[in-house]
Amino acid sequence: MKAVVWHGKRDVRVDEVPDPVLQQPNDAIIRVTSSGLCGSDLHLYEVLGPFMSEGDILGHEPMGVVEEVGPEAGELRPGDRVVIPFNISCGRCFMCTLGLQSQCETTQVREYGKGGALFGYTRLYGQVPGGQAEYLRVPQAQYGPIKVPEGPPDDRFVYLSDVLPTAWQAVEYAQVPPGGTLLVLGLGPIGQMAARIALHRDAGRVLAVDLVPERLAYARESGVEALDLKQHDDVVDLIRQLTGGRGADSVIDAVGMEAHGSGPAKVAQSAVGLLPDPAARKLMETAGVDRLAALEIAIGAVRRGGTISLSGVYGGMLDPLPMMVLFDKQIQVRMGQANVHRWVADLLPLLTGDDDPLGVDGFATHHLPLGDAPAAYEMFQQKTDGAIKILLRP
Ligand SMILES: [Zn+2]
Ligand SMILES: [Zn+2]
Repeated sequence: MKAVVWHGKRDVRVDEVPDPVLQQPNDAIIRVTSSGLCGSDLHLYEVLGPFMSEGDILGHEPMGVVEEVGPEAGELRPGDRVVIPFNISCGRCFMCTLGLQSQCETTQVREYGKGGALFGYTRLYGQVPGGQAEYLRVPQAQYGPIKVPEGPPDDRFVYLSDVLPTAWQAVEYAQVPPGGTLLVLGLGPIGQMAARIALHRDAGRVLAVDLVPERLAYARESGVEALDLKQHDDVVDLIRQLTGGRGADSVIDAVGMEAHGSGPAKVAQSAVGLLPDPAARKLMETAGVDRLAALEIAIGAVRRGGTISLSGVYGGMLDPLPMMVLFDKQIQVRMGQANVHRWVADLLPLLTGDDDPLGVDGFATHHLPLGDAPAAYEMFQQKTDGAIKILLRP
């Protein structure tokens, strides 16, 4: 089959590789029909190279059709249309029963002290072959795959793999009071979707900050008050002015690590805490909104007693947090990898009607054949051609 294969820093190729086969009784094989390209794929493309091996298959946002099931794959049957969550979870361990599927104790990668395994995401998360491929082996198939109805196009459902549950959890954790104000930092796919979800739920107002014109315009179409970072020196002051001097009730930091654009292995090492290094900060600043600046804005712009919800991937050993400010302002901070299955019951009803309240049908800016993956990675990283969300079609 064809698959998107990692060969080195900024070197992904579409290679011919062996088809996956059932390995465990609770495995399934799916034929992939759509597969998202995610901001966190760019971490692998750029800085997490030391934790990749040449030949690793990328991708963790796939959907498709079940081809084959093992004898212990539960209710799943060949022909079922399914979306595959990016985290691999068993559904019956202590963590899964608490709704913390991203911490699944059956798939935790204990060798590296990490949570549940992920598709297509480095040795740290189990080195499981990913879904930017024609076929995918799905472990824990008795629980993982989300069955979706026939009819609507893949675009309607594919974001259940990552974007929708990640954005939903970000909004949930942000605890926006009814009618309250949410500030979203970063208008990549997660920031865009979190803003839409917050407006669909009961946020009174959603402010957002980014510096890419297409992203700002895209957010404004959904009723977000999108602010251009390039036009405002002091974002914290601006947010306070816009919120009666208090600050936003809640802030979602959706600035991904992909914001940096360049950085050697040092960043990756600090990414897993092996080498806390203030120099890493400098390296992450090239694209303007870096991870730490975003956190500083969040802490400054949230009102006293408000909540900061961190989404996207936090990889670094950061400079010491301003604990005094966090304590004095009584700020609540919540974060973590999305527990995909926990939010499916909330999300599916929003996808199965005709009204498409979250606008998923038109969410992707690009649909490209799998063979164009190398160009797609480059376009997404450079944010050229208005690329906000790219779906690959094997
Ligand atoms: Zn993703
Ligand atoms: Zn589990």
